[in-house]
Amino acid sequence: MKRMSLKLKLTLIYTFFMMLVTCVALGILFSLSNKEVLSSKRMQLQKHVQESMEDIGSDAGKLKVDSDFYNLEDNIYLSLYGTNGDFLYGRVPYGFDKQPDFQDGRLRTITENSSEWFVFDLEYYAEDYGPVYIRGITSVTRAEEGFLITLRFAMIILPLLVILTAIIGYRFTRRTLKPVRLITETVRKIQADEDLSRRVDLGDGKDEIYHLANTFDQLLEQLEKAFGREKQFTSDVSHELRTPITVILTQCDALLTDPTLTSSQRAQLELIERKAQNMAQMISQLLLLSRADQGRQKLTLECLNISELMEMTAEEQQLLAHEKQITIHQEIEPDIWYNVDETFFIRMLTNLFSNAVSYGKQGGNIYARLSVQNNFITGSIEDDGIGISKDVLPHIWERFYRADTSRTDSGHSGLGLSMTKWIVEAHGGTITAESELGKGSTFTFLLPLK
Ligand code: ADP
Repeated sequence: MKRMSLKLKLTLIYTFFMMLVTCVALGILFSLSNKEVLSSKRMQLQKHVQESMEDIGSDAGKLKVDSDFYNLEDNIYLSLYGTNGDFLYGRVPYGFDKQPDFQDGRLRTITENSSEWFVFDLEYYAEDYGPVYIRGITSVTRAEEGFLITLRFAMIILPLLVILTAIIGYRFTRRTLKPVRLITETVRKIQADEDLSRRVDLGDGKDEIYHLANTFDQLLEQLEKAFGREKQFTSDVSHELRTPITVILTQCDALLTDPTLTSSQRAQLELIERKAQNMAQMISQLLLLSRADQGRQKLTLECLNISELMEMTAEEQQLLAHEKQITIHQEIEPDIWYNVDETFFIRMLTNLFSNAVSYGKQGGNIYARLSVQNNFITGSIEDDGIGISKDVLPHIWERFYRADTSRTDSGHSGLGLSMTKWIVEAHGGTITAESELGKGSTFTFLLPLK
């Protein structure tokens, strides 16, 4: 299941608690007010019955009742009975057909036809006439009705309120979390483009998230400066080392022409020269990569026959391959033209070929292929050498990464593939590696046809 976003989680929690609090508050409110309504109805009934005594009088043995007694006030029905239970005067509500016993001064709740009634009786002694019962009746159900209408209304309003709260809550949370989204987007862009110059740039807000974004921007600033210093350092060091290495190489060359050298002196000098050449190669790779990092490494593009460039590089590498009895097979489509920087393109191919030879097996084969497929120029160098294990494969493009650290003497610095990758990408292409340990590797580059 897809993980819920923070926005949704906050909105749901917020809405749930809002609903819970509202329901509990309404529940308490309704139950209290229901009790209050009923108790005031009871008091009203008792009061009416007691006050109605004033409406009853007698004259010459006959009962005289004021017309107020008959009037319906506050939904309270008053009626008058003789002690034997005979109805004398007044009104009884429709639907109340029972004639319960008279209980002087006691308020009862009587249920009839699923309706509830409050009944209150009071014995009254009318002069000249004798005792009578005054009965007051009022409907409990009717008293509760108004209250039930409010309850029903609340049941309709509540879900609407919940939906409204959820919508407002969601929009509010989204607005509040917008800076977090911007921070994430900035980090993603930095990762994708490796561009530390990006900033979240939220401006001057007052809340914690604005502070977080500003702190994050300050951190990026420091990181950018630190990386900048590191790049500058690498670039300066490589630059400074170029001259002494060139001097060493020139001196070696000059010394090697001396015919008086003993064979052991010559061997030692040749070793120095080889090592100096390795160093010179490493320095030139470092310089290229540091310039590339600083965005200072430019390509000089020319439309060239890259089929010929690949054939030429393959021929050059054939000499080296012979030492290991490796055969280079060329399956190169002729006359493929592309806008390339000649020097860099050859460096890229040379690196792939020299790796294939270095890590190829004695007496093995290398296949160099170049063709146009769909909208791409596809080039590949395949060998049947030692191969690369699955866990190592993602790291081979990293600087100074070497799977086999024992080959330090052969000019392997671990910079070759980083440089190769940069060159292919600077030409707008991509490069990938497929490999199986013990079986061989294939490096494939794609260049888009414009
Ligand atoms: P290096 O100078 O060490 O060859 P690279 O950057 O060219 O550096 O290559 C990085 C690592 O990738 C090498 O050390 C090696 O382990 C591995 N590698 C590169 N090409 C091949 C290949 N054709 N076969 C097997 N391993 C290879």
